[in-house]
Amino acid sequence: MSGRGRFAPSPTGDLHLGSLTTALASCLQAAATGADWIVRLEDVDQARSIPGAAEHIFSALTSWGFHWPTPVVFQSNSSQHYEFALDTLQNKGLLYRCGCGRSDYQGPYPGTCRQRGRLAPGEPRGATGVALRLSTATADSVHWQDEWHGTASPSLTSVAGDFVVRRKDGFHAYQLAVVVDDARQGVTQVVRGRDLMEQTAQQRYLQDALGLPHVSYAHVPLVTASDGSKLSKSSSSEAIAHLPPAHALWLALQLLRQHPPQALSRWTTAQIWEWAYARWNPDPLRGVETLQAPAVYHPPQH
Ligand SMILES: [Zn+2]
Repeated sequence: MSGRGRFAPSPTGDLHLGSLTTALASCLQAAATGADWIVRLEDVDQARSIPGAAEHIFSALTSWGFHWPTPVVFQSNSSQHYEFALDTLQNKGLLYRCGCGRSDYQGPYPGTCRQRGRLAPGEPRGATGVALRLSTATADSVHWQDEWHGTASPSLTSVAGDFVVRRKDGFHAYQLAVVVDDARQGVTQVVRGRDLMEQTAQQRYLQDALGLPHVSYAHVPLVTASDGSKLSKSSSSEAIAHLPPAHALWLALQLLRQHPPQALSRWTTAQIWEWAYARWNPDPLRGVETLQAPAVYHPPQH
């Protein structure tokens, strides 16, 4: 094995067809490149976590035939790693306190508190009360290459400005947690939903600021409902847990344009995985923004 891929769901509801599609793409891509594959629970925003959702997610993944070699890491148990990363940013003079509310500015955060809130190395940060932001004042345009979508060189200032790395309520920001976790878990390839593509610049900048290795990125086209609207984790009608696992896998492979034969939905999940491992080809996803789910998730009849 060389390298590592990952699937990192949030426990905010049941997995839907889009989640399965992303999980499948990340797992198949890892296997195709000789990498192993892990699952991480992104529950850093504990205010949004739904009790019991994590167990539902793990059991759904298992029923579809996913398996992962190492225990799931929970972000809610990882605060000390994020605080250590904040130490690094603070020692570099990049961290500052900010009490600005959403109504105090429009668009990307303009850096209002950058000078007056700056934290000196070793200065106590406190635990809650004000947000901690990362200065992007010296960030040049961040360059990264998406494996399936090509070059992206957004200006951080126009995308996010100085972004929050620890929130006012004391929870670490998603951006920080993702970057720290990918590095400490040895992740080398990130295959995830297209909706997270915009955040890649911030994460690449954080990797550089923290002196962490770069990872490769590939963004899976966003699966939409049949009417083009966003699939929702909270809408039970879009959950796929009630489908036979083989049908769910067939649907996801179909969405990923792998052209599974209809008979596949009558196979065991193990047989489907064997078929998919042997044929995985991400080329049909290159440059694709969205994939439209069928109106009804009926299993194919023949
Ligand atoms: Zn501020």
